[in-house]
Amino acid sequence: MKPFSYTRADSSRAAVAALSSDRHAKFIGGGTNLLDLMKSGVEQPEQLVDINPIPLTNIEELPGGGVRIGAMARNTYAANHPLIRQRYPLLSQAFLSGATQQLRNMATVGGNLMQRTRCYYFYDPATPCNKREPGSGCAALKGFNRIHAILGTSEECIATHPSDMCVALAALDAVVRVTGANGDRQIPMSEFHRLPGDTPQLDTNLGEDELITAVDLPPSPFAARSYYLKIRDRASYAFALVSVAAALEIQGGTIKAARLAIGGVAHKPWRATEAEEILVGSSPNQEVFEQAAEAALQKAQPRQHNAFKAELAKRAIVRTLSTVGE
Ligand code: SF4
Repeated sequence: MKPFSYTRADSSRAAVAALSSDRHAKFIGGGTNLLDLMKSGVEQPEQLVDINPIPLTNIEELPGGGVRIGAMARNTYAANHPLIRQRYPLLSQAFLSGATQQLRNMATVGGNLMQRTRCYYFYDPATPCNKREPGSGCAALKGFNRIHAILGTSEECIATHPSDMCVALAALDAVVRVTGANGDRQIPMSEFHRLPGDTPQLDTNLGEDELITAVDLPPSPFAARSYYLKIRDRASYAFALVSVAAALEIQGGTIKAARLAIGGVAHKPWRATEAEEILVGSSPNQEVFEQAAEAALQKAQPRQHNAFKAELAKRAIVRTLSTVGE
């Protein structure tokens, strides 16, 4: 591993100042992804700015019924917090399906937003990868691409986003709060992560010197009818082949509001808006759920080894909607 210097920041302002003055610096929180990336040589920061001392760990109620999760809240703490369990059970389920208990104890909410793809070629500096080294090519296009994306891909990159939490946040219309040298701003979850296009090295729309301070969850009418389903190769410590975050509000036998987001299929959590349009105004039944699933995967473009994902995603959507629509 390349030598690096280590500093601690005890405020958001100090953290931003440290990153602004050194373009080879990186923030470290739980370190559950960054340290792996450093060990494999994918990330080679010259300075690590430890943001653990910054008091951003609270989970608190917002006026109007929403909830704010501090960026340094650990995944385990957030998953088990009464406000999250009661108002956003979908998010609690997503947290608890990620990684392992030990990793969830360390991983922060901000770090979860920033985690990078688990494309095997990205972690192997001996292979071409446009995300790791722009312009070098994409080994996954003609390689073993079983875990790769089927929606929103480009000829530059077909990686998937690995997070479970982010799929639930996308379904819940969360907003990411950030601060930087130019002040504070809010980024809707739908705009936080990027599709690969011709700049696959960029995972998010976060500025280079910006720090995530919190995630805001708006008031939700979905607590009673929401579910996160994760399908993976083994029951624990595995990333999603496909996951589904679904939430319905049903009144008088009609779906009044619907949220559907899919994980494991794209470079960002994939919000299935065409499917949501089919669901809203319909009665919750198998036929409608199947129509919604077809619409969600209509634009799927499978590669050699991942064609199964389209059918798997459709079945997962129908199963999840049936669970919440009962
Ligand atoms: Fe790299 Fe993306 Fe291709 Fe994987 S899919 S090798 S991350 S460019």
